[in-house]
Amino acid sequence: MKILIHGGWVIDPGRLDGRFDILVDDGKIVRLVSEDGGTSASPGGERMADRIVDASGLIVVPGLIDMHVHFREPGQEHKETLETGMAAAARGGFTAVCTMPNTRPAADSAETIGFILKKSRECGRVKVYPVGAITRGLGGEDLCDYASLKAAGAVAVSDDGMPVMNSLVMRHAMERAKAFDLLVISHSEDLHLAAGGVMNEGETSRSMGVGGIPDAAETIGVLRDIALAELTGARLHVAHVSTAGSVRAIRDAKCRGVQVTAETAPHYFTLTDRDVPTYGTNAKMNPPLRSHHDRDAVRRGLSDGTIDAVATDHAPHAASEKALGFSDAPNGIIGLETSLAVSLRLVHEGVLSMTQLIEKMTGSPARILGIDNRLAVGNPADITLIDPEAPHRIDAASFRSKSRNTPFHGWELNGRSVMTIAAGDIVFE
Ligand SMILES: [Zn+2]
Repeated sequence: MKILIHGGWVIDPGRLDGRFDILVDDGKIVRLVSEDGGTSASPGGERMADRIVDASGLIVVPGLIDMHVHFREPGQEHKETLETGMAAAARGGFTAVCTMPNTRPAADSAETIGFILKKSRECGRVKVYPVGAITRGLGGEDLCDYASLKAAGAVAVSDDGMPVMNSLVMRHAMERAKAFDLLVISHSEDLHLAAGGVMNEGETSRSMGVGGIPDAAETIGVLRDIALAELTGARLHVAHVSTAGSVRAIRDAKCRGVQVTAETAPHYFTLTDRDVPTYGTNAKMNPPLRSHHDRDAVRRGLSDGTIDAVATDHAPHAASEKALGFSDAPNGIIGLETSLAVSLRLVHEGVLSMTQLIEKMTGSPARILGIDNRLAVGNPADITLIDPEAPHRIDAASFRSKSRNTPFHGWELNGRSVMTIAAGDIVFE
Protein backbone atom coordinates (compact mmCIF):
# COMPACT_ATOMS: atom_id res chain seq x y z
CA MET A 1 0.00 0.00 0.00
CA LYS A 2 1.24 3.46 -0.93
CA ILE A 3 0.61 6.11 1.70
CA LEU A 4 1.19 9.82 1.26
CA ILE A 5 1.56 11.77 4.49
CA HIS A 6 0.72 15.27 3.41
CA GLY A 7 1.21 18.66 5.01
CA GLY A 8 2.61 17.64 8.41
CA TRP A 9 5.39 19.34 10.33
CA VAL A 10 8.26 16.84 10.26
CA ILE A 11 10.69 16.70 13.18
CA ASP A 12 13.64 14.33 12.89
CA PRO A 13 15.96 15.86 15.52
CA GLY A 14 19.20 17.22 14.12
CA ARG A 15 18.06 16.56 10.52
CA LEU A 16 14.60 17.74 9.59
CA ASP A 17 12.40 20.46 11.05
CA GLY A 18 9.83 21.72 8.58
CA ARG A 19 6.88 20.92 6.37
CA PHE A 20 7.48 17.82 4.28
CA ASP A 21 5.40 15.29 2.38
CA ILE A 22 6.41 11.67 2.89
CA LEU A 23 5.51 8.91 0.43
CA VAL A 24 5.60 5.34 1.76
CA ASP A 25 5.60 2.29 -0.48
CA ASP A 26 6.31 -1.39 0.11
CA GLY A 27 7.38 -0.79 3.71
CA LYS A 28 9.86 1.96 2.94
CA ILE A 29 10.08 5.72 2.64
CA VAL A 30 10.36 6.31 -1.10
CA ARG A 31 9.99 10.06 -1.30
CA LEU A 32 10.51 13.01 1.04
CA VAL A 33 9.61 16.38 -0.39
CA SER A 34 9.84 19.73 1.33
CA GLU A 35 6.91 22.08 0.92
CA ASP A 36 8.93 24.81 -0.75
CA GLY A 37 11.31 22.57 -2.64
CA GLY A 38 9.33 19.96 -4.41
CA THR A 39 6.79 21.08 -6.99
CA SER A 40 8.17 18.47 -9.36
CA ALA A 41 7.75 15.43 -7.13
CA SER A 42 4.82 16.28 -4.89
CA PRO A 43 1.89 16.10 -7.35
CA GLY A 44 3.22 12.82 -8.71
CA GLY A 45 3.25 11.43 -5.19
CA GLU A 46 -0.40 12.33 -4.71
CA ARG A 47 -1.43 10.63 -7.93
CA MET A 48 0.40 7.48 -6.97
CA ALA A 49 -0.86 7.06 -3.38
CA ASP A 50 -3.58 4.57 -2.35
CA ARG A 51 -4.16 6.62 0.76
CA ILE A 52 -3.51 10.29 1.44
CA VAL A 53 -3.19 11.16 5.12
CA ASP A 54 -3.91 14.81 5.87
CA ALA A 55 -1.28 15.63 8.47
CA SER A 56 -1.86 19.38 8.64
CA GLY A 57 -1.65 20.52 12.26
CA LEU A 58 0.19 17.31 13.18
CA ILE A 59 3.83 16.58 13.98
CA VAL A 60 5.40 13.74 12.00
CA VAL A 61 8.33 12.01 13.66
CA PRO A 62 10.41 8.82 13.36
CA GLY A 63 8.55 5.97 15.08
CA LEU A 64 8.95 6.20 18.85
CA ILE A 65 11.26 3.65 20.50
CA ASP A 66 10.71 2.36 24.04
CA MET A 67 13.97 0.90 25.35
CA HIS A 68 12.40 -0.78 28.36
CA VAL A 69 9.27 -2.94 28.38
CA HIS A 70 8.14 -6.20 29.97
CA PHE A 71 5.89 -8.26 27.68
CA ARG A 72 5.71 -11.32 30.03
CA GLU A 73 5.88 -13.87 27.23
CA PRO A 74 7.03 -16.57 27.66
CA GLY A 75 5.68 -17.53 31.05
CA GLN A 76 3.18 -14.96 32.37
CA GLU A 77 0.81 -14.50 29.47
CA HIS A 78 -2.08 -13.63 31.80
CA LYS A 79 -0.37 -10.22 32.32
CA GLU A 80 0.69 -9.49 28.72
CA THR A 81 1.65 -11.32 25.54
CA LEU A 82 3.91 -10.23 22.74
CA GLU A 83 0.78 -9.61 20.66
CA THR A 84 -1.04 -7.42 23.23
CA GLY A 85 2.17 -5.65 24.18
CA MET A 86 2.89 -4.82 20.55
CA ALA A 87 -0.69 -3.57 20.10
CA ALA A 88 -0.28 -1.33 23.16
CA ALA A 89 3.02 -0.06 21.71
CA ALA A 90 1.37 0.78 18.38
CA ARG A 91 -1.43 2.66 20.11
CA GLY A 92 1.11 4.64 22.12
CA GLY A 93 3.01 5.70 18.99
CA PHE A 94 5.86 3.20 19.36
CA THR A 95 7.22 1.28 16.39
CA ALA A 96 10.01 -0.48 18.33
CA VAL A 97 10.52 -1.76 21.87
CA CYS A 98 13.25 -3.53 23.84
CA THR A 99 11.89 -6.42 25.90
CA MET A 100 13.57 -7.06 29.23
CA PRO A 101 14.80 -10.58 29.98
CA ASN A 102 12.89 -11.41 33.19
CA THR A 103 10.41 -13.70 31.44
CA ARG A 104 9.83 -17.31 32.54
CA PRO A 105 12.13 -18.83 31.53
CA ALA A 106 14.43 -15.81 31.58
CA ALA A 107 15.80 -14.66 28.21
CA ASP A 108 19.19 -16.15 29.04
CA SER A 109 19.54 -18.48 26.04
CA ALA A 110 19.54 -18.30 22.26
CA GLU A 111 16.36 -20.44 22.31
CA THR A 112 14.33 -17.91 24.32
CA ILE A 113 15.69 -14.92 22.38
CA GLY A 114 14.84 -16.79 19.16
CA PHE A 115 11.33 -17.56 20.41
CA ILE A 116 10.66 -13.89 21.26
CA LEU A 117 11.86 -12.74 17.84
CA LYS A 118 9.97 -15.39 15.89
CA LYS A 119 6.73 -14.90 17.81
CA SER A 120 6.88 -11.11 17.60
CA ARG A 121 7.41 -11.24 13.82
CA GLU A 122 4.31 -13.42 13.54
CA CYS A 123 2.32 -10.95 15.64
CA GLY A 124 2.85 -7.79 13.63
CA ARG A 125 5.09 -5.04 12.40
CA VAL A 126 6.15 -3.32 15.61
CA LYS A 127 9.80 -4.26 16.02
CA VAL A 128 10.78 -6.16 19.14
CA TYR A 129 14.43 -6.00 20.14
CA PRO A 130 15.02 -8.61 22.84
CA VAL A 131 17.47 -7.90 25.67
CA GLY A 132 19.30 -10.95 27.01
CA ALA A 133 20.08 -11.70 30.64
CA ILE A 134 23.47 -10.85 32.15
CA THR A 135 23.49 -14.06 34.25
CA ARG A 136 21.71 -17.40 33.88
CA GLY A 137 18.22 -17.28 35.34
CA LEU A 138 19.02 -13.68 36.44
CA GLY A 139 20.69 -15.43 39.37
CA GLY A 140 23.57 -12.98 39.59
CA GLU A 141 26.26 -15.69 39.41
CA ASP A 142 26.93 -17.45 36.08
CA LEU A 143 27.39 -15.30 33.01
CA CYS A 144 25.26 -16.18 29.99
CA ASP A 145 26.85 -17.05 26.65
CA TYR A 146 26.89 -13.56 25.15
CA ALA A 147 28.14 -14.76 21.76
CA SER A 148 25.09 -16.97 21.28
CA LEU A 149 22.70 -14.35 22.73
CA LYS A 150 24.01 -11.81 20.23
CA ALA A 151 23.93 -14.29 17.35
CA ALA A 152 20.29 -15.05 18.23
CA GLY A 153 19.40 -11.35 18.03
CA ALA A 154 19.84 -9.84 21.50
CA VAL A 155 20.65 -6.11 21.28
CA ALA A 156 21.86 -5.74 24.87
CA VAL A 157 22.20 -7.60 28.16
CA SER A 158 20.52 -6.54 31.40
CA ASP A 159 19.91 -7.58 35.00
CA ASP A 160 16.68 -5.57 35.09
CA GLY A 161 14.69 -6.30 38.24
CA MET A 162 17.41 -8.55 39.71
CA PRO A 163 20.64 -6.51 39.96
CA VAL A 164 23.98 -8.34 39.94
CA MET A 165 25.18 -7.68 43.48
CA ASN A 166 28.63 -9.24 43.11
CA SER A 167 30.88 -6.53 41.66
CA LEU A 168 33.37 -9.10 40.35
CA VAL A 169 30.62 -10.86 38.40
CA MET A 170 29.48 -7.46 37.04
CA ARG A 171 33.06 -6.64 36.06
CA HIS A 172 33.35 -9.90 34.12
CA ALA A 173 29.92 -9.28 32.56
CA MET A 174 31.02 -5.85 31.31
CA GLU A 175 34.30 -7.26 29.96
CA ARG A 176 32.44 -9.98 28.05
CA ALA A 177 29.79 -7.52 26.83
CA LYS A 178 32.52 -5.21 25.55
CA ALA A 179 34.19 -8.10 23.73
CA PHE A 180 30.92 -8.76 21.86
CA ASP A 181 30.02 -5.08 21.53
CA LEU A 182 26.83 -5.54 23.56
CA LEU A 183 25.27 -2.68 25.49
CA VAL A 184 24.91 -3.33 29.24
CA ILE A 185 21.59 -2.02 30.62
CA SER A 186 21.92 -1.88 34.38
CA HIS A 187 19.29 -1.99 37.07
CA SER A 188 21.56 -0.16 39.49
CA GLU A 189 20.59 -0.87 43.08
CA ASP A 190 22.20 -2.04 46.32
CA LEU A 191 19.78 -4.79 47.36
CA HIS A 192 21.23 -5.06 50.86
CA LEU A 193 20.54 -1.40 51.54
CA ALA A 194 17.08 -1.64 49.92
CA ALA A 195 16.09 -4.84 51.78
CA GLY A 196 12.61 -4.77 53.29
CA GLY A 197 11.63 -1.55 51.53
CA VAL A 198 8.49 -1.22 49.42
CA MET A 199 8.54 2.52 48.68
CA ASN A 200 10.85 5.52 48.95
CA GLU A 201 12.18 6.07 52.48
CA GLY A 202 10.82 9.34 53.78
CA GLU A 203 7.97 11.10 55.54
CA THR A 204 5.30 9.21 53.57
CA SER A 205 6.77 5.72 54.17
CA ARG A 206 6.98 6.53 57.89
CA SER A 207 3.42 7.83 58.07
CA MET A 208 2.15 4.77 56.14
CA GLY A 209 4.18 2.50 58.41
CA VAL A 210 5.81 0.58 55.55
CA GLY A 211 9.47 -0.23 54.87
CA GLY A 212 11.44 2.44 53.00
CA ILE A 213 14.12 2.21 50.30
CA PRO A 214 16.66 5.02 50.72
CA ASP A 215 17.63 6.93 47.57
CA ALA A 216 21.22 5.93 48.34
CA ALA A 217 20.36 2.32 47.39
CA GLU A 218 20.06 3.44 43.77
CA THR A 219 22.79 6.07 43.82
CA ILE A 220 25.35 3.58 45.20
CA GLY A 221 24.42 1.14 42.42
CA VAL A 222 24.82 3.79 39.74
CA LEU A 223 28.20 4.90 41.13
CA ARG A 224 29.42 1.28 41.19
CA ASP A 225 28.26 0.55 37.66
CA ILE A 226 29.85 3.75 36.36
CA ALA A 227 33.13 2.80 38.09
CA LEU A 228 32.98 -0.64 36.45
CA ALA A 229 32.19 0.86 33.04
CA GLU A 230 35.20 3.12 33.46
CA LEU A 231 37.36 0.14 34.48
CA THR A 232 36.24 -2.11 31.63
CA GLY A 233 35.40 0.32 28.82
CA ALA A 234 31.96 -1.29 28.43
CA ARG A 235 29.01 0.70 27.10
CA LEU A 236 26.70 1.25 30.08
CA HIS A 237 23.08 2.35 29.91
CA VAL A 238 21.50 3.10 33.31
CA ALA A 239 17.84 2.07 33.42
CA HIS A 240 15.03 3.97 35.17
CA VAL A 241 16.97 6.81 36.85
CA SER A 242 14.97 8.13 39.82
CA THR A 243 17.31 9.93 42.26
CA ALA A 244 19.12 13.27 42.32
CA GLY A 245 22.28 11.41 43.29
CA SER A 246 22.07 9.20 40.19
CA VAL A 247 21.63 12.24 37.96
CA ARG A 248 24.70 13.88 39.53
CA ALA A 249 26.76 10.70 39.17
CA ILE A 250 25.82 10.28 35.48
CA ARG A 251 26.42 13.97 34.72
CA ASP A 252 29.87 13.73 36.30
CA ALA A 253 30.67 10.48 34.45
CA LYS A 254 29.70 11.99 31.10
CA CYS A 255 31.91 15.01 31.82
CA ARG A 256 34.81 12.62 32.37
CA GLY A 257 34.15 10.85 29.07
CA VAL A 258 32.80 7.57 30.47
CA GLN A 259 30.60 5.71 27.93
CA VAL A 260 27.37 6.00 29.86
CA THR A 261 23.82 6.79 28.81
CA ALA A 262 20.65 6.87 30.87
CA GLU A 263 16.88 6.69 30.75
CA THR A 264 14.09 7.67 33.08
CA ALA A 265 10.35 6.93 32.96
CA PRO A 266 7.39 9.32 32.87
CA HIS A 267 6.31 8.47 36.43
CA TYR A 268 9.66 9.63 37.83
CA PHE A 269 9.34 13.13 36.36
CA THR A 270 5.60 13.36 37.06
CA LEU A 271 4.82 11.80 40.46
CA THR A 272 6.47 11.69 43.88
CA ASP A 273 6.21 9.44 46.93
CA ARG A 274 3.51 11.79 48.26
CA ASP A 275 1.25 10.39 45.51
CA VAL A 276 1.51 6.85 46.89
CA PRO A 277 -1.43 7.15 49.32
CA THR A 278 -3.61 8.37 46.40
CA TYR A 279 -2.73 5.72 43.83
CA GLY A 280 -1.88 2.80 46.13
CA THR A 281 -0.31 -0.18 44.39
CA ASN A 282 -0.54 1.61 41.02
CA ALA A 283 2.18 3.86 42.44
CA LYS A 284 4.34 0.92 43.56
CA MET A 285 7.37 0.22 41.40
CA ASN A 286 11.10 -0.35 41.70
CA PRO A 287 12.85 2.04 41.84
CA PRO A 288 10.08 3.72 43.83
CA LEU A 289 8.59 7.18 43.30
CA ARG A 290 10.96 9.58 45.05
CA SER A 291 10.86 13.02 46.66
CA HIS A 292 10.07 16.37 45.00
CA HIS A 293 13.80 17.10 45.13
CA ASP A 294 14.55 13.94 43.14
CA ARG A 295 11.75 14.56 40.65
CA ASP A 296 13.07 18.06 39.96
CA ALA A 297 16.61 16.71 39.54
CA VAL A 298 15.36 14.14 37.00
CA ARG A 299 13.67 16.96 35.07
CA ARG A 300 16.90 18.97 35.09
CA GLY A 301 18.79 15.86 33.99
CA LEU A 302 16.45 15.54 31.02
CA SER A 303 16.74 19.17 30.03
CA ASP A 304 20.55 19.39 30.28
CA GLY A 305 21.10 16.11 28.39
CA THR A 306 22.33 14.02 31.34
CA ILE A 307 19.35 11.70 30.82
CA ASP A 308 19.27 10.65 27.18
CA ALA A 309 16.00 8.76 26.87
CA VAL A 310 12.45 8.42 28.12
CA ALA A 311 11.46 4.74 28.48
CA THR A 312 8.32 3.36 30.10
CA ASP A 313 9.41 0.29 32.11
CA HIS A 314 5.96 -0.98 30.99
CA ALA A 315 5.31 -3.66 33.63
CA PRO A 316 1.89 -5.29 33.32
CA HIS A 317 0.28 -7.09 36.27
CA ALA A 318 -3.16 -8.65 36.68
CA ALA A 319 -5.74 -6.72 38.70
CA SER A 320 -5.83 -9.52 41.30
CA GLU A 321 -2.07 -9.18 41.83
CA LYS A 322 -2.21 -5.40 42.24
CA ALA A 323 -5.21 -5.84 44.59
CA LEU A 324 -2.92 -7.34 47.23
CA GLY A 325 -1.85 -5.12 50.12
CA PHE A 326 0.75 -2.44 49.40
CA SER A 327 3.64 -4.45 50.84
CA ASP A 328 2.67 -7.67 48.98
CA ALA A 329 1.64 -6.38 45.53
CA PRO A 330 4.19 -6.74 42.71
CA ASN A 331 6.28 -3.77 41.51
CA GLY A 332 5.58 -1.96 38.30
CA ILE A 333 3.06 -0.03 36.19
CA ILE A 334 2.22 -0.05 32.51
CA GLY A 335 3.19 2.93 30.38
CA LEU A 336 3.08 2.36 26.63
CA GLU A 337 -0.34 3.95 26.11
CA THR A 338 0.26 6.95 28.39
CA SER A 339 3.97 7.73 27.92
CA LEU A 340 3.71 10.24 25.09
CA ALA A 341 0.77 12.15 26.58
CA VAL A 342 2.35 12.31 30.05
CA SER A 343 5.75 13.25 28.58
CA LEU A 344 4.24 16.05 26.47
CA ARG A 345 3.54 17.81 29.77
CA LEU A 346 7.29 18.52 29.86
CA VAL A 347 6.91 20.43 26.59
CA HIS A 348 3.76 22.25 27.69
CA GLU A 349 5.51 23.21 30.95
CA GLY A 350 8.67 24.44 29.18
CA VAL A 351 11.02 21.81 30.64
CA LEU A 352 11.87 20.43 27.17
CA SER A 353 11.36 21.70 23.64
CA MET A 354 9.28 19.48 21.36
CA THR A 355 12.46 18.57 19.47
CA GLN A 356 14.20 17.58 22.72
CA LEU A 357 11.30 15.35 23.73
CA ILE A 358 11.17 13.67 20.32
CA GLU A 359 14.93 13.13 20.56
CA LYS A 360 14.51 11.39 23.92
CA MET A 361 11.69 9.18 22.66
CA THR A 362 13.21 8.12 19.35
CA GLY A 363 16.54 9.66 18.27
CA SER A 364 18.51 8.87 21.42
CA PRO A 365 17.21 5.31 21.88
CA ALA A 366 18.03 4.63 18.22
CA ARG A 367 21.55 5.96 18.66
CA ILE A 368 22.12 3.99 21.87
CA LEU A 369 20.83 0.78 20.27
CA GLY A 370 22.53 1.33 16.92
CA ILE A 371 19.26 1.46 14.96
CA ASP A 372 18.84 3.69 11.89
CA ASN A 373 15.25 4.95 12.10
CA ARG A 374 15.78 8.32 10.45
CA LEU A 375 13.10 9.64 8.13
CA ALA A 376 15.14 9.13 4.98
CA VAL A 377 14.47 7.72 1.53
CA GLY A 378 15.19 4.00 1.53
CA ASN A 379 14.71 3.55 5.28
CA PRO A 380 11.88 1.42 6.73
CA ALA A 381 8.71 3.50 7.08
CA ASP A 382 8.45 3.67 10.87
CA ILE A 383 6.56 6.90 11.42
CA THR A 384 4.43 8.40 14.20
CA LEU A 385 1.91 11.22 13.76
CA ILE A 386 1.33 13.32 16.86
CA ASP A 387 -1.39 15.82 17.63
CA PRO A 388 0.55 17.92 20.15
CA GLU A 389 -2.43 19.67 21.71
CA ALA A 390 -5.44 17.32 21.45
CA PRO A 391 -7.22 17.31 24.81
CA HIS A 392 -8.21 13.84 25.97
CA ARG A 393 -8.87 11.80 29.08
CA ILE A 394 -6.85 8.66 29.84
CA ASP A 395 -9.22 5.70 30.02
CA ALA A 396 -7.54 2.47 31.11
CA ALA A 397 -10.58 0.50 29.87
CA SER A 398 -9.62 1.47 26.30
CA PHE A 399 -6.05 0.12 26.56
CA ARG A 400 -4.86 -2.54 24.16
CA SER A 401 -2.57 -3.84 26.89
CA LYS A 402 -3.91 -6.85 28.79
CA SER A 403 -3.32 -5.02 32.06
CA ARG A 404 -4.71 -1.85 33.61
CA ASN A 405 -2.18 -1.03 36.35
CA THR A 406 -1.66 2.68 35.76
CA PRO A 407 -1.87 5.69 38.06
CA PHE A 408 -2.82 7.90 35.10
CA HIS A 409 -6.37 6.60 34.57
CA GLY A 410 -8.74 9.58 34.45
CA TRP A 411 -6.00 12.16 33.89
CA GLU A 412 -6.90 14.98 31.51
CA LEU A 413 -3.95 15.51 29.17
CA ASN A 414 -3.11 17.40 26.01
CA GLY A 415 -1.43 15.71 23.05
CA ARG A 416 -1.29 12.13 21.83
CA SER A 417 -0.27 9.91 18.95
CA VAL A 418 -2.95 9.77 16.26
CA MET A 419 -1.37 7.39 13.77
CA THR A 420 1.45 4.86 13.94
CA ILE A 421 3.02 3.40 10.80
CA ALA A 422 5.35 0.44 11.31
CA ALA A 423 7.31 -0.98 8.36
CA GLY A 424 4.88 0.77 6.02
CA ASP A 425 1.67 -0.55 7.60
CA ILE A 426 -0.77 1.61 9.53
CA VAL A 427 -0.77 -0.27 12.86
CA PHE A 428 -2.80 2.33 14.75
CA GLU A 429 -5.08 5.21 13.87
ZN1 LIG B 1 12.01 -2.99 34.14
